[in-house]
Amino acid sequence: MKKGLLIILSGPSGVGKGTVRQELFKDESLNLAYSISMTTRKPRPTEKEGIDYFFVSEEEFKEKIEKGELLEYAQFVGNYYGTPQFYVDQLLSEGKNVVLEIEVQGALQVMAKCPHALTIFLVPPSLEELERRIRGRRTEEESIVQERLAKARKEIATKDEYKYVVENDDVVAAKEKIAKIIKENL
Ligand code: 5GP
Repeated sequence: MKKGLLIILSGPSGVGKGTVRQELFKDESLNLAYSISMTTRKPRPTEKEGIDYFFVSEEEFKEKIEKGELLEYAQFVGNYYGTPQFYVDQLLSEGKNVVLEIEVQGALQVMAKCPHALTIFLVPPSLEELERRIRGRRTEEESIVQERLAKARKEIATKDEYKYVVENDDVVAAKEKIAKIIKENL
């Protein structure tokens, strides 16, 4: 069976990676599978274990790093996030096109390890709009919002490392652009 395509969907926190990803997954012709990440962040009220993330302790996370079980990992605003290698390999060998929805430090690690990965960076229409979206979640305190915004500015500065940069001004339009890019790369 032909191996699937590894797809990195990155972009600053709050840009709408998750919403665009959900829209992409409605399109069955893309044959996508989502790589569920591991994190030490506490779950938000709507998030579910094993669906949004595998929520683990810092100790468990560090054990995974030591055993070499993560394809990539990063620290982001005080928490660890990483991609378990095992599921990615399994899904790719089943012919699925695997989506990693990850931040920039992790994306750069995957680019170095997997130069053929399809890399897409989502940008917000403006920084003001990004701030509005981050605040719209209303789940984080001001200091965390400020940290996420400062981080976002640095992340946007790396966008030229990616094969494609897509503006997320409208979820459906962004989904259409990304679906076209994926199909061209299959
Ligand atoms: P959040 O706390 O908003 O869920 O995620 C914070 C940031 O970490 C987001 O940019 C998200 O895409 C990213 N992220 C989620 N999972 C992973 C992962 O496995 N690895 C890396 N490097 N970043 C991740």
